[in-house]
Amino acid sequence: MKTYRIACIPGDGIGQEVVPAGQDVLQALAASQSNYRFEFTAFDWGGDYYRRHGVMMPADGLDQLRGQDAILFGSAGDPHIPDHITLWGLRLKICQGFDQYANVRPTRILPGIDAPLKRCGPGDLDWVIVRENSEGEYAGVGGRVHQGHAIEVATDVSMMTRAGVQRIMRFAFALARSRPRKLLTVVTKSNAQRHAMVMWDEIALEVAHEFADVRWDKELVDACTARMVNRPATLDTLVATNLHADILSDLAAALAGSLGIAPTGNIDPERRFPSMFEPIHGSAFDIMGQGLANPIGTFWSCVMLLEHIGEPAAAAMLMAAIEAVTADPALHTRDLGGNARTSDVTQAVCEHVTATAERRRAA
Ligand code: ATP
Repeated sequence: MKTYRIACIPGDGIGQEVVPAGQDVLQALAASQSNYRFEFTAFDWGGDYYRRHGVMMPADGLDQLRGQDAILFGSAGDPHIPDHITLWGLRLKICQGFDQYANVRPTRILPGIDAPLKRCGPGDLDWVIVRENSEGEYAGVGGRVHQGHAIEVATDVSMMTRAGVQRIMRFAFALARSRPRKLLTVVTKSNAQRHAMVMWDEIALEVAHEFADVRWDKELVDACTARMVNRPATLDTLVATNLHADILSDLAAALAGSLGIAPTGNIDPERRFPSMFEPIHGSAFDIMGQGLANPIGTFWSCVMLLEHIGEPAAAAMLMAAIEAVTADPALHTRDLGGNARTSDVTQAVCEHVTATAERRRAA
């Protein structure tokens, strides 16, 4: 029997509710068959850890994660700790330390979800946003001088490297090729940002020659927001810089019905290091500890995790369970307009997985 080692980092706020829920559904999947099992290791890193130790994760944190097959992450954010500390001290440390340069964000309107786009037919919104996850606007280059004085200067410099752009473009074209429509939109802002974004466009054109069977177009990021709303069916796979994709994927999540549903994977395509999977929502302190968090974003992230570790059948089974559960309005959490609790949704997904496995065994 195969054992997958999964590091669980619930982090802060509702991360502490949705990650255990994710572990429950993964356990239900493993229990329903006999060829693999999960070995979970929990890490208590995040805001509380910071209060005790002055850091979000220990200095040897990456070494502790290195041998794992994948990481299931909740969220990092704390109302009493500055956002740049929670973000840079944990999530970005892992993403950058493990060179998880491709951030992949699928978006679909799941069955039963009332999404805000009234003119959007079934299947019209089925996107994957690929976010450059290792450099660009989040490279951390910049500084402040004359702090607190009238002459203070602060810079955040976006760093784009040819190698970094090439690898994310290749990843995005390959992902587009693997999807039925073989369609990629390269998001840019080369009209206003006339150095790095122009190189971004040039490299997209070069890489496109390697993928002659992929149709592709270019869209300015501002125009892309309007296109997502007005012509969602014209988009399929999108690739964008770290900052642009961050913003576009929150819009995508909202257009798909709720931030609580959207998943993401921080992927090291070369598999040198473990990849990390997480819901895209944050710590949502306003609802933490009340059992109100929608765990679907975490479950969908578990689908991505299963695909990544090489269990596509389990991934499909979990996705089917998620879709069956979202189709039932009685199982909608408050963010979707319902009254269901995190535990109701989790139990329903686990039961669906178990029932499907039993039916298959009996057939
Ligand atoms: P952070 O600072 O960590 O990014 P945040 O609270 O500013 O956290 P989000 O956590 O992304 O931002 O959430 C914004 C709002 O969306 C929350 O206030 C919450 O009400 C709602 N929300 C987010 N995720 C969920 C979820 N999984 N289930 C239910 N509601 C959610």
